[in-house]
Amino acid sequence: MTGQQFCDAAIGAVHEIEKYYNTLSERPVLPSIGPGYLQKLLPSEAPQEGEAWQDIARDIESKIMPGMTHWQSPKYMAFFSASSTYPGILGEMWSAALTVPAFNWICSPVVTELETVVLDWVADVLNLPSTFKSQGEGGGVIQGSASESIVVAVIAARERYVRNQVEREGITDPEEIEDRSCEIRTQLVALGSDQAHSSTKKAAIIAGTRFRSVTTQRSNNYSMTGKDLKAKLQEIEAKGLKPYYVTVSIGTTNTCAVDDMLSIAEVLKDYPEVWVHCDAAYAGSALVCPEYQELSRQMAFVDSFDFNMHKWLLTNFDASCMFVRKRHNLTAALGITPAYLKNDYTESGLVTDYRDWQIPLGRRFRSLKIWFVLRTWGVQGLRAHIRHHVNLGNLFASLIESRGDLFSIITPPAFALTVFTVNSTGKRKVQMEAATNGADPRPDQDRQVPVTPDVADGELEIANRHTKEVYDRIDQSKEFFLTSTVIGGVFAIRVVAANPLAEEKYVRRCFELLVQYAESVL
Ligand code: PLP
Repeated sequence: MTGQQFCDAAIGAVHEIEKYYNTLSERPVLPSIGPGYLQKLLPSEAPQEGEAWQDIARDIESKIMPGMTHWQSPKYMAFFSASSTYPGILGEMWSAALTVPAFNWICSPVVTELETVVLDWVADVLNLPSTFKSQGEGGGVIQGSASESIVVAVIAARERYVRNQVEREGITDPEEIEDRSCEIRTQLVALGSDQAHSSTKKAAIIAGTRFRSVTTQRSNNYSMTGKDLKAKLQEIEAKGLKPYYVTVSIGTTNTCAVDDMLSIAEVLKDYPEVWVHCDAAYAGSALVCPEYQELSRQMAFVDSFDFNMHKWLLTNFDASCMFVRKRHNLTAALGITPAYLKNDYTESGLVTDYRDWQIPLGRRFRSLKIWFVLRTWGVQGLRAHIRHHVNLGNLFASLIESRGDLFSIITPPAFALTVFTVNSTGKRKVQMEAATNGADPRPDQDRQVPVTPDVADGELEIANRHTKEVYDRIDQSKEFFLTSTVIGGVFAIRVVAANPLAEEKYVRRCFELLVQYAESVL
């Protein structure tokens, strides 16, 4: 492809992309094809001769689009959102154009330096404690995903624990250190609540340690409390095992629960060896708003914090922002410098080599898109974006509440997420006030939303069946994409109003469909 052909193709593609976004709401959000559809549409072998771009481009609509689940559609209200915006796309374009897998500072200094600058900006925008900024002992790094950040945190936690123990034992011979380190690792236990994302368990498996989960209570809106955690820590210690890591969450996947940071911090004062990682993958974006920043202040006790700008902060996948209080803990665990990676800048100690803060060696120029997004929206624009979605989420929750004869909310709406069930009968249920956590500053939870009391087993079975039927019908309609989940044996529907293209008319239409299906099921 020549430069001129590239210009023509790229301009054509940009127009097609703009048209795609403009007409996205008219497409079914879910595909109608079955497994293996593409094999039938594509040749069984790669072409022997090169093809013209026009022929390749034509296949986007005929071959690719039929297999798309349109995450950018305003009718996508499933899982959590995956933001895409024009400035984010431009960041990806420039990153692809420059393609520099800059693992060391010298590989392309701007890749490292822009990352350091924008992550310091982001730490400020979220009002995180200044210990997470690069000026002190901490700093930020862009990882590919929240799961990757958790793996990095777990490995850093494990190695910090082992290092300290070996030091205390006064072992100095390298082979003895290695042998003893292996023994210590076999006793280690990572923890997270039963609502923490599965990536904590996966990270513990990758780190080769045990994982234990802390049971949360419905009466606490599924938030982990210091009391719950303490009981588990004591149980682990009674077995002669050593807790070394815990995930606390701001916005769990099921219900966007926020763990009770103050009571957890109090308990962990007795466990200085335990690394605390805050997983705020989705809801962390809300900390751009001052009304959520009590949570930022509560982060003073955690060792690391991570949130995905690519979920809710207008930045294209992937942009998982991880902050650590002591960067030395990452580099001590993950830094290895063979001869071919040595250079004078690294030796000088004056530069950051982000390869030592992550699992892979090579890395993409991801800070560009964050820079573009921060500059395009500005802090005020980011706040308006989050508040728009929180308001849409609250609107949806109030619509669901208005039909207490059909639906019951499981936990109060949080961060634009509403979790609800279809009732077992068409009668309005007796409702009770939400058991809101007094320490929880989330403004969207200040609303005293009635939630249903626990129901008898027989009733629960019927409600589960009804909810599943309504969920299946929505799914089959392909007009909206929602997610279902099971929380404490309750089958529930989750609706997230946090898509960049979300609007009130789609929230209302989704509610109308739910009412229509629930009325026919009941
Ligand atoms: N943590 C939470 C709370 C999540 O909801 C998710 C995914 O939705 C993850 C972690 C994993 O995110 P990632 O896909 O970035 O690994």
